Amino acid sequence: MIKAKKSLGQNFLIDKNILNKIVNATNIENKIILEIGPGTGNLTSYIIKKKPKKFFVIEKDNELAIYLKKKFNNKLTIINQDILKIDESNFFKEKVTVYGNLPYNISTEILSKWIINLKDNFWFDCLVLMFQKEVADRIIAKFNTPNYGRLSIICNWKLNIKKICDIKPDSFSPKPKINSTLLFLYPKENFIKIKDPKNLEKITRIFFNQRRKMLKKPYHKLFNGDERILEKLKIDLNLRPQNIDFETYYKLVHEYENL
Ligand code: SAM
Repeated sequence: MIKAKKSLGQNFLIDKNILNKIVNATNIENKIILEIGPGTGNLTSYIIKKKPKKFFVIEKDNELAIYLKKKFNNKLTIINQDILKIDESNFFKEKVTVYGNLPYNISTEILSKWIINLKDNFWFDCLVLMFQKEVADRIIAKFNTPNYGRLSIICNWKLNIKKICDIKPDSFSPKPKINSTLLFLYPKENFIKIKDPKNLEKITRIFFNQRRKMLKKPYHKLFNGDERILEKLKIDLNLRPQNIDFETYYKLVHEYENL
């Protein structure tokens, strides 16, 4: 029997209703599928039943990779590696649909990596991902709300995001101490061009470093008090970082890159 490893965030999904909800979120038949962290293969089995054209899984745990190989034989390609070390855009030549009940401790790192490293062409057509509920609340937060911040701004830059449902701890074994949320994310057709996405990380970091303070100080630090940009983007420096909407942040990065 496989013993769940806490260090790898192993909570295996056992709720049939949720497993069905995940595989019914979007079409699988004849598509290229990637599952991150398949664990003991509960979701994997549901995906196989929907007849993908090709099915890759990335699992870091060596013991689980061997177990999956035995269980599924030649129905999938098992990549026994750390998802954080893979360059997906070079790995996949055709667009993939990504599924993952992500290890909670690295879920934001995985998603930020995907968005920041995205080249002009998306390597995925959609993502069906599970997060700790508090993290999902930050990803989908709108401006002027307490959860709005760097993660919402970075994720909403290139992706449309929809919440599918919340999931209770009872749906997993072992039971986690937290609630989860399933999100559906897919590429935006139009988004504001940024030359180096690291500048989006930088600007949001500097603005949200002190989220209760007014915008004056971080703005002056980045833009040397340039009033033309303030007028152009209609920014009031007496506001706080959470009062500035997504688009204005992306436009600010654009201005920063053209200073
Ligand atoms: N998908 C399975 C399910 O729903 O039953 C398991 C989900 S469990 C929350 C997270 C899985 O991700 C585990 O199987 C764990 O070993 C794997 N994992 C953890 N860190 C990883 C990493 N850096 N790269 C790839 N897989 C990882």
